[in-house]
Amino acid sequence: MSLFFNIAIDGHSSCGKSTIAKSIARKYKMRYIDTGAMYRAVTLYCMREKIIDNSIIDTDKLLEKIDNLNIDFRYNTNLQKSETFLNNQNVEDLIRGIDVSENVSNIAKIKEVRSKLVSLQKRMGLNKNVVMDGRDIGTKVFPDAKLKLFITAKVEVRAQRRYNELVDKGERVNYSEVLKNINTRDFNDSNREFNPLVKSDDALLIDNSHISINDQNILIEDLINKIK
Ligand code: C5P
Repeated sequence: MSLFFNIAIDGHSSCGKSTIAKSIARKYKMRYIDTGAMYRAVTLYCMREKIIDNSIIDTDKLLEKIDNLNIDFRYNTNLQKSETFLNNQNVEDLIRGIDVSENVSNIAKIKEVRSKLVSLQKRMGLNKNVVMDGRDIGTKVFPDAKLKLFITAKVEVRAQRRYNELVDKGERVNYSEVLKNINTRDFNDSNREFNPLVKSDDALLIDNSHISINDQNILIEDLINKIK
Protein backbone atom coordinates (compact mmCIF):
# COMPACT_ATOMS: atom_id res chain seq x y z
CA MET A 1 0.00 0.00 0.00
CA SER A 2 1.36 3.45 -0.93
CA LEU A 3 0.63 6.71 0.84
CA PHE A 4 0.17 9.92 -1.10
CA PHE A 5 1.24 12.50 1.42
CA ASN A 6 4.54 13.63 2.86
CA ILE A 7 5.68 12.78 6.37
CA ALA A 8 8.02 15.11 8.28
CA ILE A 9 10.26 13.71 11.02
CA ASP A 10 12.33 16.14 13.04
CA GLY A 11 14.22 15.88 16.28
CA HIS A 12 17.51 15.87 18.13
CA SER A 13 20.70 14.23 16.89
CA SER A 14 20.91 10.43 17.07
CA CYS A 15 17.39 9.82 18.34
CA GLY A 16 16.55 7.20 15.71
CA LYS A 17 14.76 9.44 13.19
CA SER A 18 16.25 7.58 10.24
CA THR A 19 15.28 4.16 11.65
CA ILE A 20 11.67 5.38 11.91
CA ALA A 21 11.73 7.01 8.48
CA LYS A 22 13.21 3.94 6.75
CA SER A 23 10.68 1.67 8.36
CA ILE A 24 7.75 3.88 7.25
CA ALA A 25 9.24 4.15 3.74
CA ARG A 26 9.58 0.38 3.45
CA LYS A 27 6.11 -0.37 4.75
CA TYR A 28 4.23 2.28 2.76
CA LYS A 29 6.43 2.30 -0.39
CA MET A 30 7.48 5.88 0.08
CA ARG A 31 10.74 7.59 -0.85
CA TYR A 32 13.01 8.21 2.14
CA ILE A 33 15.16 11.34 2.18
CA ASP A 34 17.85 11.77 4.85
CA THR A 35 18.39 15.55 4.86
CA GLY A 36 21.18 15.24 7.46
CA ALA A 37 23.15 13.36 4.78
CA MET A 38 22.77 16.37 2.49
CA TYR A 39 24.20 18.77 5.12
CA ARG A 40 26.95 16.22 5.84
CA ALA A 41 27.84 16.01 2.11
CA VAL A 42 28.09 19.82 1.86
CA THR A 43 30.33 19.73 4.96
CA LEU A 44 32.60 17.08 3.44
CA TYR A 45 32.90 19.23 0.32
CA CYS A 46 33.78 22.28 2.46
CA MET A 47 36.41 20.29 4.35
CA ARG A 48 37.97 19.03 1.13
CA GLU A 49 38.01 22.49 -0.44
CA LYS A 50 39.34 24.05 2.81
CA ILE A 51 36.24 26.22 2.98
CA ILE A 52 36.10 25.17 6.62
CA ASP A 53 39.39 24.82 8.48
CA ASN A 54 39.66 24.61 12.27
CA SER A 55 36.00 25.72 12.52
CA ILE A 56 36.76 28.90 10.53
CA ILE A 57 34.56 29.28 7.48
CA ASP A 58 35.63 31.12 4.33
CA THR A 59 32.17 32.36 3.41
CA ASP A 60 33.25 34.09 0.18
CA LYS A 61 34.80 30.86 -1.12
CA LEU A 62 31.70 28.93 -0.09
CA LEU A 63 29.39 31.29 -1.99
CA GLU A 64 31.67 31.13 -5.01
CA LYS A 65 31.65 27.29 -5.02
CA ILE A 66 28.17 26.41 -3.76
CA ASP A 67 26.72 26.11 -7.27
CA ASN A 68 29.34 23.46 -8.17
CA LEU A 69 27.84 21.18 -5.58
CA ASN A 70 25.63 18.34 -6.70
CA ILE A 71 24.07 15.99 -4.16
CA ASP A 72 21.85 13.05 -4.99
CA PHE A 73 20.74 9.71 -3.59
CA ARG A 74 21.09 6.42 -5.50
CA TYR A 75 19.62 3.10 -4.49
CA ASN A 76 22.18 0.33 -3.99
CA THR A 77 20.32 -2.86 -4.92
CA ASN A 78 22.99 -5.12 -3.36
CA LEU A 79 22.89 -3.40 0.02
CA GLN A 80 19.19 -2.51 -0.41
CA LYS A 81 19.71 1.03 0.76
CA SER A 82 19.94 4.50 -0.62
CA GLU A 83 23.42 6.06 -0.70
CA THR A 84 24.55 9.67 -0.81
CA PHE A 85 26.53 10.95 -3.81
CA LEU A 86 28.53 14.16 -3.88
CA ASN A 87 29.42 15.28 -7.40
CA ASN A 88 28.98 11.67 -8.62
CA GLN A 89 31.16 10.14 -5.88
CA ASN A 90 29.64 7.76 -3.34
CA VAL A 91 30.30 9.44 0.03
CA GLU A 92 27.84 7.45 2.13
CA ASP A 93 30.47 6.14 4.57
CA LEU A 94 32.74 9.20 4.53
CA ILE A 95 29.99 11.57 5.69
CA ARG A 96 29.17 9.50 8.81
CA GLY A 97 32.56 9.90 10.52
CA ILE A 98 33.17 11.99 13.64
CA ASP A 99 35.21 14.61 11.70
CA VAL A 100 32.22 15.50 9.51
CA SER A 101 29.93 15.37 12.59
CA GLU A 102 32.16 17.91 14.31
CA ASN A 103 31.86 20.44 11.48
CA VAL A 104 28.36 19.88 10.15
CA SER A 105 26.33 22.15 12.43
CA ASN A 106 28.67 25.06 11.60
CA ILE A 107 28.00 24.58 7.90
CA ALA A 108 24.28 23.92 8.41
CA LYS A 109 23.78 27.32 10.05
CA ILE A 110 24.78 29.22 6.89
CA LYS A 111 21.77 30.87 5.25
CA GLU A 112 22.82 30.15 1.64
CA VAL A 113 23.50 26.48 2.40
CA ARG A 114 20.06 26.15 3.97
CA SER A 115 18.23 27.87 1.14
CA LYS A 116 19.94 25.68 -1.48
CA LEU A 117 19.15 22.45 0.36
CA VAL A 118 15.63 23.43 1.45
CA SER A 119 14.65 24.24 -2.14
CA LEU A 120 16.09 20.90 -3.33
CA GLN A 121 14.16 19.11 -0.58
CA LYS A 122 10.90 20.88 -1.41
CA ARG A 123 11.34 19.73 -5.03
CA MET A 124 11.91 16.13 -3.88
CA GLY A 125 8.55 16.26 -2.11
CA LEU A 126 6.46 17.45 -5.05
CA ASN A 127 5.03 13.96 -5.72
CA LYS A 128 3.74 13.76 -2.13
CA ASN A 129 5.14 10.33 -1.41
CA VAL A 130 8.15 11.22 0.69
CA VAL A 131 9.18 10.60 4.27
CA MET A 132 11.91 13.05 5.17
CA ASP A 133 13.91 13.42 8.36
CA GLY A 134 15.93 16.36 9.63
CA ARG A 135 15.63 19.45 11.82
CA ASP A 136 13.36 21.85 9.91
CA ILE A 137 11.17 19.53 7.85
CA GLY A 138 7.88 20.18 9.67
CA THR A 139 8.58 23.90 10.04
CA LYS A 140 10.22 24.90 6.73
CA VAL A 141 10.44 22.12 4.15
CA PHE A 142 6.96 20.55 4.40
CA PRO A 143 4.96 22.92 6.63
CA ASP A 144 1.80 21.32 5.19
CA ALA A 145 2.83 17.67 5.84
CA LYS A 146 -0.12 15.55 6.96
CA LEU A 147 1.94 13.84 9.64
CA LYS A 148 4.69 15.55 11.63
CA LEU A 149 6.71 13.80 14.29
CA PHE A 150 9.21 15.34 16.68
CA ILE A 151 11.50 12.66 18.11
CA THR A 152 13.76 12.96 21.11
CA ALA A 153 15.42 10.88 23.83
CA LYS A 154 17.68 11.54 26.82
CA VAL A 155 21.06 12.72 25.58
CA GLU A 156 22.98 9.91 27.33
CA VAL A 157 20.75 7.31 25.66
CA ARG A 158 21.31 8.91 22.25
CA ALA A 159 25.08 9.11 22.78
CA GLN A 160 25.26 5.44 23.75
CA ARG A 161 23.30 4.41 20.63
CA ARG A 162 25.53 6.54 18.38
CA TYR A 163 28.69 5.27 20.08
CA ASN A 164 27.60 1.64 19.52
CA GLU A 165 26.86 2.41 15.85
CA LEU A 166 30.30 4.00 15.27
CA VAL A 167 32.13 1.18 17.07
CA ASP A 168 30.22 -1.40 15.00
CA LYS A 169 31.49 0.39 11.89
CA GLY A 170 35.07 0.16 13.18
CA GLU A 171 35.50 3.87 14.09
CA ARG A 172 37.91 4.65 16.93
CA VAL A 173 35.87 6.89 19.24
CA ASN A 174 35.21 7.22 22.92
CA TYR A 175 31.83 7.69 24.54
CA SER A 176 32.55 11.13 26.02
CA GLU A 177 33.65 12.47 22.62
CA VAL A 178 30.36 11.27 21.10
CA LEU A 179 28.32 12.72 24.00
CA LYS A 180 30.09 16.07 23.64
CA ASN A 181 29.46 16.13 19.88
CA ILE A 182 25.74 15.42 20.33
CA ASN A 183 25.38 18.10 23.02
CA THR A 184 27.17 20.64 20.82
CA ARG A 185 25.08 19.81 17.75
CA ASP A 186 21.83 19.96 19.78
CA PHE A 187 22.82 23.38 21.07
CA ASN A 188 23.95 24.74 17.68
CA ASP A 189 20.96 23.30 15.81
CA SER A 190 18.45 24.69 18.33
CA ASN A 191 20.02 28.14 18.65
CA ARG A 192 21.00 29.07 15.09
CA GLU A 193 19.41 32.07 13.42
CA PHE A 194 18.03 30.39 10.28
CA ASN A 195 15.64 27.42 10.49
CA PRO A 196 16.55 26.31 14.03
CA LEU A 197 15.42 22.97 15.38
CA VAL A 198 12.05 23.64 17.01
CA LYS A 199 9.02 21.45 17.40
CA SER A 200 6.27 22.53 15.05
CA ASP A 201 3.04 23.17 17.03
CA ASP A 202 1.24 20.48 15.08
CA ALA A 203 3.98 17.81 15.48
CA LEU A 204 3.53 14.84 17.76
CA LEU A 205 6.31 14.54 20.35
CA ILE A 206 7.79 11.08 20.92
CA ASP A 207 10.47 10.54 23.59
CA ASN A 208 11.86 7.10 22.80
CA SER A 209 14.34 6.84 25.71
CA HIS A 210 12.40 3.90 27.08
CA ILE A 211 10.38 2.60 24.11
CA SER A 212 11.46 -0.31 21.93
CA ILE A 213 11.74 0.21 18.18
CA ASN A 214 8.90 -2.25 17.73
CA ASP A 215 6.53 -0.40 20.11
CA GLN A 216 7.46 2.88 18.47
CA ASN A 217 6.65 1.45 15.01
CA ILE A 218 3.27 0.24 16.26
CA LEU A 219 2.49 3.70 17.68
CA ILE A 220 3.43 5.43 14.43
CA GLU A 221 1.55 2.94 12.23
CA ASP A 222 -1.55 3.64 14.34
CA LEU A 223 -1.14 7.35 13.66
CA ILE A 224 -0.73 6.75 9.92
CA ASN A 225 -3.78 4.45 9.82
CA LYS A 226 -5.87 7.21 11.40
CA ILE A 227 -5.03 9.78 8.74
CA LYS A 228 -4.64 7.80 5.53
O1 C5P B 1 20.56 13.98 10.91
P1 C5P B 1 22.05 14.14 11.13
O2 C5P B 1 22.46 13.99 12.56
O3 C5P B 1 22.86 13.30 10.21
O4 C5P B 1 22.32 15.66 10.72
C1 C5P B 1 23.62 16.20 10.76
C2 C5P B 1 23.52 17.69 10.99
O5 C5P B 1 22.96 18.31 9.83
C3 C5P B 1 22.68 18.17 12.15
O6 C5P B 1 23.37 18.17 13.38
C4 C5P B 1 22.33 19.58 11.70
O7 C5P B 1 23.37 20.48 12.01
C5 C5P B 1 22.23 19.46 10.20
N1 C5P B 1 20.86 19.35 9.71
C6 C5P B 1 20.12 20.50 9.60
N2 C5P B 1 18.88 20.45 9.04
C7 C5P B 1 18.37 19.30 8.62
C8 C5P B 1 19.09 18.10 8.75
C9 C5P B 1 20.34 18.15 9.33
O8 C5P B 1 20.57 21.57 10.00
N3 C5P B 1 17.16 19.31 8.04
